[in-house]
Amino acid sequence: MAQVSKNARTGSSTQRFYCSCGGEIKMKTIFENSKVRTIAECEKCKRVERRPSDFK
Ligand SMILES: [Zn+2]
Repeated sequence: MAQVSKNARTGSSTQRFYCSCGGEIKMKTIFENSKVRTIAECEKCKRVERRPSDFK
């Protein structure tokens, strides 16, 4: 029986995303219009999207 243990990853916040180029997506915090904003950037091709899921 495959039971879900308490230590199983549930809603992990350390989820990794990868760009279509194969590079890893890194989250960056930038200041824009005096507001803090988080963007996702591919560390390989430097593509920037609003959220990691936009790289798919
Ligand atoms: Zn990329």
